[in-house]
Amino acid sequence: MRRKIVVGNWKMNGSLASNELLLEALLEKISQTIPLDIVVCVPYPYLFQTQSHLKHSCIRWGAQNVAKFESGAFTGEVSVSMLKEFGASFVIIGHSERSTAYCESDENIATKFMMVKKAGITPILCVGETLIEREAGIMEKVVSKQLDTIIEMYGAEMFDETVIAYEPIWAIGSDLAASPEQAQVMHQFIREKLSSNIKVLKNLKIIYGGSVNPQNALQLFSMPDVDGGLVGRASLNSSDFQSICRSAEI
Ligand code: PEP
Repeated sequence: MRRKIVVGNWKMNGSLASNELLLEALLEKISQTIPLDIVVCVPYPYLFQTQSHLKHSCIRWGAQNVAKFESGAFTGEVSVSMLKEFGASFVIIGHSERSTAYCESDENIATKFMMVKKAGITPILCVGETLIEREAGIMEKVVSKQLDTIIEMYGAEMFDETVIAYEPIWAIGSDLAASPEQAQVMHQFIREKLSSNIKVLKNLKIIYGGSVNPQNALQLFSMPDVDGGLVGRASLNSSDFQSICRSAEI
């Protein structure tokens, strides 16, 4: 059975003072022996603070984006080697809030995915369709295309030991999560698409994101192809996040 993973995406929230409270509460509430991987992806300026608090715990941390270049004249960008210096072991790539606001192409996302993987950090690749695309019944085609860019540029084996977050765009920040059945159909589709590579089949995690909360987490995480969750708003509340993590302990 695949070990589950719950990732908190803090987005652009927090302050030194509020993070301190949240991180301390997580340390207190989340047991060291909980049988799943727990990660928080924080804004860049708080990586050092997060590392200082979590370095002796079972909770790991990461970032929400990364540059596609290694170094150089790229004002405002942050490289994978910089993230590594702060102990980041995960990076969210291609979150729809970024790809929509900054028109990030699938090729750009694919390059970042490869850079992160090469550096030994685990990429969390976000894929998912808009409401219009779902209503048109083309969600599988849309997600397939997002994955194909990486497959065509670097091969399917690139997905070995990575995380794909299926995040229907209509469900993010909306209070309207996908139903467990809708999530299962898409997760199964993604797994089957990548199943020709045995290593990928064994080591790839596919997690669900979009309005996960303590009320719906258990049902979502009980689906056979849902390996955990990418949690936005509810990850900012330690009790909610703890409860979601407990729902993944199955
Ligand atoms: C997200 O940030 O990826 C997300 C799913 O947000 P929320 O849980 O708030 O919908």
